[in-house]
This record gives sequence, C-alpha cells and structure tokens, in this order.
Amino acid sequence: QAKRNGRSTYAVYSTDMERSIRHRNGMVEALRRAIERDEIQVALQPQLRFLDGAHSGFEALVRWKKDSEWVPAAELISLAEQSDLISAVGRSVVSATLSVMRDMKRKGRVPGKVAINVAAAQLRDLNFAKELLAAIAAHGHSGSEIVIEVTENVILDRTNEAIGVTLNRLSEAGVKIALDDFGTGYASLTHLQRYPVSYIKIDRSFVADLNRGYGNGAIVRAIISLAHDLGMEVVAEGIETQAQYQSLMEMGCDYAQGYLLAKPMLVEQIDAYFLDCEAKRPVAALVA
Ligand code: C2E
Ligand code: MG
Ligand code: MG
Ligand code: MG
Repeated sequence: QAKRNGRSTYAVYSTDMERSIRHRNGMVEALRRAIERDEIQVALQPQLRFLDGAHSGFEALVRWKKDSEWVPAAELISLAEQSDLISAVGRSVVSATLSVMRDMKRKGRVPGKVAINVAAAQLRDLNFAKELLAAIAAHGHSGSEIVIEVTENVILDRTNEAIGVTLNRLSEAGVKIALDDFGTGYASLTHLQRYPVSYIKIDRSFVADLNRGYGNGAIVRAIISLAHDLGMEVVAEGIETQAQYQSLMEMGCDYAQGYLLAKPMLVEQIDAYFLDCEAKRPVAALVA
C-alpha cells in the first residue's frame, strides 16, 4: 500500500526515522543522567594463568542498567562515542574499577592485574594519561596493577601523535598495554613494535574456530609464537570449552579468559569467586 503511493511512503519512513532519532536522544539523555548519578558499574571477568591455573587478574567491563534492563556494553560504548560522552563514561569506568580494587584489597584479596578498556577518543585526549595516573594513585594503587586494552585501529592511527604520547607516558608509569580483539582488523604484529604493547588478546572468533577444525589452529599458533618472539604475552579471550582451553595451553598461550572459567561478575559476586579460587588452589599446586 505504501509502495503505491510515494507520499505515504515518505510519511512512513519519516515517522520511523523520527522515532529512532527520538529513541537515540532519549538514550543519550538517560546515559548522561546515569553518569551524573554515578550509576555506571563495572563487571569484572577473571583471567587465569595457563601455567598453573592461578588467578592472574580481571578485565573490567562497563555495565549500565536502564529501566531495569542491562544495556549491552558495545551498544553503550558506541552511543557514548557518537555523543561526546565517551570520556565521561571512561572516567566512570576507571573510578568504579579502582574502587572495586580498593574494596578487594581491604578484604585481603589480591586483584592482580586489572585491565580497563579504553576507546580511541580517550587516548587522543592529552589529559588522559595524567588523569588516569592521578586516579590510580588516589585509590592507593600503583600503575603496574593496571592494563589498558586498546583496539587495532588505535595502533594503526599514525596521524595522531597524542596516542603515542599517551601510551608512552602510561608505559613509563608501569601501566601495561594490551591489544584487544587481535586478528579482527588490519594491524600486524609489526605495527605493534611502534608502541609499548605488552599483551596481545586473541579475539574470540579465532578461539571459537579452534575446535571447528579450521586450519588446525595454525593462525593462533603463529600469533602466539610471533608475540613471544617480540617479547609480548598472549591472552586468549572467549574460551568456552575444555577443548579450546587444552589446545591453547598446548600452544603455549599465557593467560585464559572466558565463560568456561568465569563470567563477568558484579561486585557482590567477587567474594564467592575468591573463596572458590582458594578452595581450588591446593589442587592446582598438586597438578603443577
Ligand atoms: P571486549 O573488550 O573484547 O570484551 C570481551 C567481551 O566478550 C565482553 O562482552 C565479555 O563479556 C565477552 N565474553 C567474555 N568471555 C566470553 C565467552 O566465553 N564467550 C562469549 N561469547 N563472550 C565472552 P561485553 O561485556 O558485552 O563487552 C563488549 C565489548 O564492549 C568489549 O569487548 C569492548 O569492546 C566494549 N567495552 C566493554 N566495556 C568497555 C569499557 O569500559 N570501555 C570501552 N571503551 N569499551 C568497553
Ligand atoms: Mg577488552
Ligand atoms: Mg576483546
Ligand atoms: Mg571483543
């Protein structure tokens, strides 16, 4: 019906477009309020060392509950990136993460290395390194306890000198840099030598392919060996099966992260996780 009549087609589209713009604006306003009210949370997902299965650290992932529903992190981040809220969201994530770490330490837990995802726009801000280091110190932590996860486009952006300045300044303060989702974009390991990258995170699409038999893991094996030759360590993300875990261990991967080991946890679940680690520790020691 709408197709037969040009005017009504236009009317339908325009209403749909208006509705989606209104929805977006509503989301942006809600996000702005959530930031102001300090409602941005983080979930922490454990990372384990392949060598002995011991806890090595966490990745912090942004969480926002809007009208009693969790907004997917990727959606939230892209909304924030398109609306100038990314630095504010980033600051909320940093302060939530550093606070959770402080609470853990007060309970006698050792958080290990905690990785925080950082968007390209944050790194282009020349105040970012200074602010992050000040926040780390203000919470009583040291730079060497923090890892920042950046994506390949960040590494490939040669046009922006601020990124290099920021990464070098953080690195000098002991903050480690991890390259997230490795293998999904166009960065090669040779690009990584330009920056002080310590960790490569193999994207979960490669991990998923491991037990589907594609190429028998040749790509993953090559990434791990080249990373090691360049003095970097490797984290595999998205490990969901025992078979994937086993293959990665045999390939010499350094750290493991994925639903098989633990899902991202909100603050209130972390106590139970550490108790579980303690219960397992004697077993791990026996096996090692
Ligand atoms: P990412 O940094 O690659 O984070 C890993 C994502 O994979 C997380 O999704 C995590 O929950 C999920 N994941 C972990 N283990 C498994 C598994 O075994 N199987 C599967 N299927 N998924 C697993 P999440 O939390 O939805 O975050 C999605 C993406 O949003 C992140 O990908 C990251 O790119 C972005 N993001 C999340 N938090 C932040 C943040 O604070 N700042 C920025 N800039 N980006 C963030
Ligand atoms: Mg990440
Ligand atoms: Mg990732
Ligand atoms: Mg990812």
